[in-house]
Amino acid sequence: ISVEHLKKYYGKVPNQTKAVNDISFSVQKGEFVSIIGSSGSGKSTLLNMIGGLDTPTSGNVYILGKDITSMSEEELTLFRRKNIGFIFQNYNLIPVLSVYENIVLPVELDGRKIDKDFLDDVLDILSLKEKIFNLPNTLSGGQQQRVAIARAIISKPAVILADEPTGNLDSKTSGDVIKLLRTVNQRFEQTLIMITHNLEIAQLSDRIINIIDGKVDI
Ligand code: ADP
Ligand code: ADP
Repeated sequence: ISVEHLKKYYGKVPNQTKAVNDISFSVQKGEFVSIIGSSGSGKSTLLNMIGGLDTPTSGNVYILGKDITSMSEEELTLFRRKNIGFIFQNYNLIPVLSVYENIVLPVELDGRKIDKDFLDDVLDILSLKEKIFNLPNTLSGGQQQRVAIARAIISKPAVILADEPTGNLDSKTSGDVIKLLRTVNQRFEQTLIMITHNLEIAQLSDRIINIIDGKVDI
């Protein structure tokens, strides 16, 4: 992943918010990078642009050698589905579907077949085997987040983007979830970028990028 001179400005001069103000960095394949910074520093805006969920004011984002900022909406949707897995703070699970159905839904919606051996492996690593018929609201926060992780990785995306994945979890569960995420990212050589407020959690990654007022602190 290569981010080059990325900017996102909201509003009009003179009341402009420079949410992301000329950020550049690269992340190697298989690397696990944390983004830290105070509330409002631009972390979510940055991650959303890397994931193609938000369009930059200027600058480029290259993923797997492709400039996603020059793609059409359709191209971007296909690219995102194939190559990027998202994990959010609120899990975003569908309450009326079982754990199993939640995990396989994105792949099935995409008209693809589930790799059963891989699914087995993932459920095993995330200790979800006994829970596959449960509804999300019968699980703890940590278990729900593990379901969200399984859903994000089951389509074998090259890139995983996580926005405060431990934001609703206690510190022990947070550590456990991140260690699992780390295991998964190493095992399947996925590149992982995670936003967190928690420095202890960030320290479990390979590298920390600190964002202050829309810029990388160096
Ligand atoms: P966090 O601090 O957890 O990243 P925020 O509460 O800052 O989340 O933002 C939540 C959502 O609200 C985001 O989608 C963001 O783009 C949007 N948002 C944040 N600030 C504003 C604003 N000033 N005007 C409009 N939307 C905003
Ligand atoms: P963080 O994730 O670090 O909390 P955000 O990326 O959510 O920060 O927000 C960075 C800045 O951009 C904040 O000042 C926020 O209010 C502003 N912002 C975010 N989204 C919007 C939006 N949709 N419209 C206007 N301002 C926004």
